[in-house]
Amino acid sequence: MSFELLARFNAVKKDISNALDLAQRKNEEVKLIAVSKTHPANMIRTLVQEGQYEFGENYVQEWLGKVEELKDLPIIWHVIGPIQSNKTQDVAEHAHWLHTLDRLKIAQRLNEQRPPVLPPLNVCIQVNVSGEATKSGLLPEAVLDFALKVNQMPNLCLRGLMCLPENTDNVDDLSHQFILMQQLLRSLQQQGLNVDVLSMGMSADMALAIKYGATYIRIGSAIFGERKKSV
Ligand SMILES: *Cc1c(COP(=O)(O)O)cnc(C)c1O
Repeated sequence: MSFELLARFNAVKKDISNALDLAQRKNEEVKLIAVSKTHPANMIRTLVQEGQYEFGENYVQEWLGKVEELKDLPIIWHVIGPIQSNKTQDVAEHAHWLHTLDRLKIAQRLNEQRPPVLPPLNVCIQVNVSGEATKSGLLPEAVLDFALKVNQMPNLCLRGLMCLPENTDNVDDLSHQFILMQQLLRSLQQQGLNVDVLSMGMSADMALAIKYGATYIRIGSAIFGERKKSV
């Protein structure tokens, strides 16, 4: 199992490097978040030994178990799932990043609950870039106002934008959505916000996301194998 994990991990790194070459971007411009949801802590431990320190988790309860089990390791934890009010304390205390911020109430709670001994919590605003009714995230036109408010919160550090594009194989549709994210980030920069992160690209669409400026890609199944639950 460890052998297969390492083979998949190395293949993903190779794919990333090829996508970067094609896009004429440098290696250090894109960072990999290994999305370990539903997979056991020992797989994370194996990847840490390979130099992978950034991991993404969706379900707070499951993630907290891993935080405890792996507390001897210098892992950077990215929470990438939707957050309810009753989980903000856990995120404020244990996460380094939250990628799915889309409600002021959640931002305010995180800002209040972030322990003063820790650096500000890095946050990305989730954008509903496909406009699907069932998707979380702010519609693009609501992002600037929200970003300006989050930017005022001393214990949060606004880093950029995150999206889950439409679940489609249509390259034109996906490209359009990634380009929109790029434009939206640029418009925030033009408003004076110090943001430079685009968190986009998963196992199926990472090459395209890299082409359109992703700086964090979130890869789960291509590294850890298929999940039993489909999420
Ligand atoms: C599960 C998940 C991923 C990883 O998806 P894969 O298709 O397994 O690579 C990335 N981002 C978010 C927000 C997720 O929930």
